[in-house]
Amino acid sequence: MFSLPQLNYQFNALEPWFDAQTMEIHYSKHHQAYVDKLNAAIQDYPDLQAKTAEELLIDLAKMPEAVKTPVRNAGGGVVNHNLFWQLLAAGEQQPGPRLTELLKAAFGSTDKFKEVFTNAALNHFGSGWAWLTIDPAKKIEIFSLPNQDSPLSSGKTPLLAVDVWEHAYYLKYQNRRPEYVAAFWHVVNWAEVENRLARAVG
Ligand code: MN
Repeated sequence: MFSLPQLNYQFNALEPWFDAQTMEIHYSKHHQAYVDKLNAAIQDYPDLQAKTAEELLIDLAKMPEAVKTPVRNAGGGVVNHNLFWQLLAAGEQQPGPRLTELLKAAFGSTDKFKEVFTNAALNHFGSGWAWLTIDPAKKIEIFSLPNQDSPLSSGKTPLLAVDVWEHAYYLKYQNRRPEYVAAFWHVVNWAEVENRLARAVG
């Protein structure tokens, strides 16, 4: 059975950028609902229960038809939020050296990268996420995906992600997604992004 991960910080740790009430509801209600739905979806599939949620998404195309959609939606919700909490931290970090080098090569500068990523988040219509990913050829990309779709299902490893579902920001920012994404840059756990990059490229 899948369960909620331990949070490494308090709900109010990311104030004033991400407010405590949004963090608590996002984690204990929305994330929990994805966990519950994933557990329900695979309750009759012991072989799937033996896999990690990431493995389910990587193998999404091979899922039995009866569980493919719930694994895509609820499994994506589980994995994406597990990742999201790890990608956040207090303390106004800066991008690490390897990532900075990679962003400069791909986008010209860290500022230009932030601009492109922000635009992907702001221009995404409806619910979804903006992603920075790296593929097996070590190509990095920025794009958005709808709903809880995961880049893992298309062979890409997430390095950074921002949740642009309204549940991620509506209590504090209402319809002002640009203010929420601007706040996100203040709470990115760049050390974790650097670790993920190192694991992906070896
Ligand atoms: Mn969310």
